[in-house]
Amino acid sequence: MRKKLSFVIIASLFAAIACNCAYCQQRDGRSRASRGKIDTLVRDGYKLIFINRDSSFSLTTKNRMIETFFAVYPPMVERFNKNSSRQVNFIIDPSFEGVAIASGRRITYNPKWFASNPDDIDVVTHEVMHVVQAYGNTPGPGWLTEGIADYARYKYGVDNQLGGWSLPEYNVKQSYTDSYRITARFLLWIEVNKGASVLEKLDAAMRDHTYNEEIWKKLTGKSIDELWKEYSKSPELIAETLRKSSRKISLYSWMLD
Ligand SMILES: [Zn+2]
Repeated sequence: MRKKLSFVIIASLFAAIACNCAYCQQRDGRSRASRGKIDTLVRDGYKLIFINRDSSFSLTTKNRMIETFFAVYPPMVERFNKNSSRQVNFIIDPSFEGVAIASGRRITYNPKWFASNPDDIDVVTHEVMHVVQAYGNTPGPGWLTEGIADYARYKYGVDNQLGGWSLPEYNVKQSYTDSYRITARFLLWIEVNKGASVLEKLDAAMRDHTYNEEIWKKLTGKSIDELWKEYSKSPELIAETLRKSSRKISLYSWMLD
């Protein structure tokens, strides 16, 4: 009896799945809409699946997000993690409350943020760096994860200036653990003063879960606190770099004379 009942339940379940009545078609249509409009874009071996669950989302913003992905993701993969996923999924989700969040190769964006900040397109650059990072469940510090993502936004961003985004000047209240842009500027200073490979090695150590505080000494000869102290004494790195390059230009003009 019980066997017969289970058979009836299973059979009616199959009937429900296959049902073609007006109600079921309408229900299927609704669930398709909640899944969103899906575009698949492929360029040079990279695939972007763009899922838009907001019918009022700006087409211009969507196209800029797509262009940004294909401009910044491949060079980041090439430099930091050649094993990164060749496919990334973007989801425009009106029910998401934050600005954007990356999880594995899936990035969820809040359409309300882009509606009020349409030029903040390099949010994409920051988020796709998280896909490249692929740190998983690492005991590494969160400030370094976010600092590297903002460093990547600074280095690879398509239009940070238009988005009103820049690295803040150093001040004494800062700490390298402040994360995001403050850490990013410190990392940029490390790149210029101690070599770009330091960044690549830090990123790799975070990914293979071998990061610990000793790594700073191993890579630069100084502990993280010693590096920060050095940075705090001479933080005007960017101005200095510009000064050096303008000196080169004047030397060149002198040679022309
Ligand atoms: Zn982040």
